[in-house]
Amino acid sequence: MDLMTEMKDFLIERENTSYEVIIGLEVHAQVTSNSKLFSSSSTKFGAEPNTQVSLVDAAFPGMLPVINEYCIKQAIKTGIGLNAKINKKSVFDRKNYFYADLPQGYQISQYKYPIVGEGKVILDMPNGQKEVGIERLHLEQDAGKSIHDIDPNNTLVDLNRSGVALMEIVSKPDLRSPDEVNVYIKKLRSIMRYLGTCDGNMQEGSLRADVNVSVRKVGATEFGTRCEIKNVNSIKFMQMAIIHEANRQIDLIENGKSIDQETRLFDTKKNETRSMRSKEDAHDYRYFPDPDLLPLEVSDKFIDNIRSEIPELPDEKKKRFIEKFKLTPYEATILVSDIETSKYFEEVIKEADVKLSTNWITGELFAVLNDKNLDISQSPISAKNLSKLINLIKDGTISGKIAKTVFEEMIDGDKDPQKIIDTKGLKQQSDPKAIEELINKVIKNNAEKVTEYKSGKDKLFGFFVGQAMKESKGKGNPQLINKILKEKLNG
Ligand code: ADP
Ligand code: MG
Repeated sequence: MDLMTEMKDFLIERENTSYEVIIGLEVHAQVTSNSKLFSSSSTKFGAEPNTQVSLVDAAFPGMLPVINEYCIKQAIKTGIGLNAKINKKSVFDRKNYFYADLPQGYQISQYKYPIVGEGKVILDMPNGQKEVGIERLHLEQDAGKSIHDIDPNNTLVDLNRSGVALMEIVSKPDLRSPDEVNVYIKKLRSIMRYLGTCDGNMQEGSLRADVNVSVRKVGATEFGTRCEIKNVNSIKFMQMAIIHEANRQIDLIENGKSIDQETRLFDTKKNETRSMRSKEDAHDYRYFPDPDLLPLEVSDKFIDNIRSEIPELPDEKKKRFIEKFKLTPYEATILVSDIETSKYFEEVIKEADVKLSTNWITGELFAVLNDKNLDISQSPISAKNLSKLINLIKDGTISGKIAKTVFEEMIDGDKDPQKIIDTKGLKQQSDPKAIEELINKVIKNNAEKVTEYKSGKDKLFGFFVGQAMKESKGKGNPQLINKILKEKLNG
């Protein structure tokens, strides 16, 4: 896609000038694993404070970290999912800084030699596909959590999270709008959920991002100075922060001032970003290779084994859905975005018509899930029963309209649609004789309208269909009613 069409999406207009927003994300994704990156403590969310803390996590003197092989596999798997280069040799460094909830006084992270190098992610935007470059993915430990609102005078520390494995996924500065950020985060989350490497649960903090923002006048070739907004934990907040921060920077430029590269915080209540500290350079952290950990080397065989476990990912699945099931790209994008949705869909179409299934899942079913705030894995209607319903429409047992009534009934307890139809007597009237009889009745009762119709008032046809439907108590086969009515009225 050329730059101009791209930029039309999101520009901030000022007097006589337009600005383009440049965004790069550092996403912190918690690795799905039972135990921590360098210790065997549990990573389970929501436990009582300080119940999942080993001596390593609490940084007792003399304790030694031991690399959790499973976390390494998860990071490599994610790298493969991001179409990225896997580095056979990587190094864990100490990144020194003081936090109350970081008892070691340093974080073990990867710096110069990350486990995963450059890759790319494809975004499906309304005006076409867009590629976003991945700079790197490295492993690091999470810190503990300071709690400020339990004790009025003291800050308490919970070390359960201390030492949990994080993947930091750093994008190139390729994002250009809050919409692209939305789609990018969702795509990353989707890929990691397919892979089972991060649950992507933003409420629990499993996925959060540092958002780097700069602006430049349209047509400029150099990037502007960026600010980094730390630790934003919802897509909505990321978008709000970007818009606010871009406008703040433009105001500065328009007033002839310059932008300081700094780290900022997004205040979600005031909808503004505030300076936290001026940007530290890498040398401020005094990175050096952790002497307790040897450089990590993985073999080709190790990587190949992981590669062989990679399931079909969203992009491939989308391609297959379009080719094999003749879905539109739009439908396919929706159905593959979540792995559970795609499984549900494939389960339904095992037995039922693809087109109808697509419509019912993305229409009625999604509406119910949305309404009840449920995931598809908690769907009140099973794939099996939905496919039964669709078959009952397809074979003419019920009309699409009656099917909606049946569907409403099914929600309560995943009822079998056939049983609902039987008990409520909802079966479609498809006997031509019976339909003809009820049409005769409608014609007889509306003699005046028939005359009007015959004298050219074509629009009345719909009226007759309505009357016949009513006469059949909504159960008349619509195609049959249409056909017989036409014969009677036009003949
Ligand atoms: P640091 O550790 O200094 O934050 P990283 O390399 O980890 O550096 O991350 C830099 C992030 O900032 C990347 O996501 C990158 O895409 C983004 N970035 C770099 N330059 C700009 C810019 N001019 N505008 C917006 N984002 C930028
Ligand atoms: Mg950073």
